[in-house]
Amino acid sequence: MKRALITGITGQDGSYLTEFLLSQGYAVDGLTRNTQPANTTRLNHLLAGNGAQPPALRLHQGDLLSTRRLRALIEQVQPDEIYHLAAPSRPGPAAEPPDWRGDITVLGTLHLLEALRRSGTPAKFFHAASAEIFGPAPPPQSETTPLAPASRYAAAKGHATRLTRIYRQRYGLFAANGILFNHESIRRSNRYVSRKITQAVAAIATGEQYYLYLGNLNARRDWGYAPDYVAAMWLMLQQPQADDFVIGSGQAYTVKDFVAAAFDYAGLDWQAHVRFDPRFYRPGETYCPQADIGKIGSVLGWRPRTCFQALIRLMVDAELKLKECAYQLTIDNRQL
Ligand code: NAP
Repeated sequence: MKRALITGITGQDGSYLTEFLLSQGYAVDGLTRNTQPANTTRLNHLLAGNGAQPPALRLHQGDLLSTRRLRALIEQVQPDEIYHLAAPSRPGPAAEPPDWRGDITVLGTLHLLEALRRSGTPAKFFHAASAEIFGPAPPPQSETTPLAPASRYAAAKGHATRLTRIYRQRYGLFAANGILFNHESIRRSNRYVSRKITQAVAAIATGEQYYLYLGNLNARRDWGYAPDYVAAMWLMLQQPQADDFVIGSGQAYTVKDFVAAAFDYAGLDWQAHVRFDPRFYRPGETYCPQADIGKIGSVLGWRPRTCFQALIRLMVDAELKLKECAYQLTIDNRQL
């Protein structure tokens, strides 16, 4: 049985990756941060009703800034594969708190790579890099696009990406960067525009809300579906040699396209419900992501299975189902 260690297991990607790996027969160990209790909302369906962990899934607490702790964990778990997904989320420059620091993103990656190197464990290492490292580079962006980060988050991700390459080239680790473009799902935080839109569509469709306030409707993104992307992460670690790959859809759409498709799918007229709010506007945004997925397609045979329209349908359906469940729960509670 193969064993995987996942940092950031409690996040969107961590939870989908855990499901995927368990379905492939892996045993999964997840590192959570030292919070009591760990935030397992996205993993609860995999844990037993009493919160117990099934034998194939174990959670461990630990500090990503402690090489010693990480090394002990790697030596205890003896993973075949390590997926390093933990990083502070950053929905946009305006949302970066003033004391935001890239220490977990940069130093967490460094400590984990160093712990792996010192342990001598021959595990394959995946780092979740971000398309934001390319900054305002004109589309499409590929593995050879120069790094030009334009925010603190992007700069931190750029450093972590370079560290991963250094450990591959200089220390011979199997260490690979997946350069991820936006990927969404019902498990995405609603601080991101995709989820904010689909959540609002469900609330408007059920009469709980009337207006949705957004910033720049012309901002473009390359959006994909998170479960497709975790399969690409896994595929990258099944190769004989480590390499970096861009993981995206290859298509760019505007926020307005997203809004129109989501409202249309729910039978609503978006223009009646969407209003501009300058608080969500990011002036001078030159970021125009669109993945060139030629390399991952030709080398790994990966391509996203879920197109833009299907992603939106999936997300709106899931939001409506969540509302239905919440409504049913209220009815059930009233009957008690
Ligand atoms: P997510 O849902 O925000 O999950 C982030 C994970 O990192 C959570 O498990 C979180 O733990 C953990 N984390 C955050 N701050 C931490 C800290 N200070 N110490 C330890 N753990 C910490 O993100 P995601 O969408 O799954 O993304 C996974 C990775 O892909 C991230 O590295 C992200 O930067 C990268 N990425 C994602 C996208 C995307 O579109 N989703 C695009 C580009 C790159 P808690 O649950 O305890 O908060």
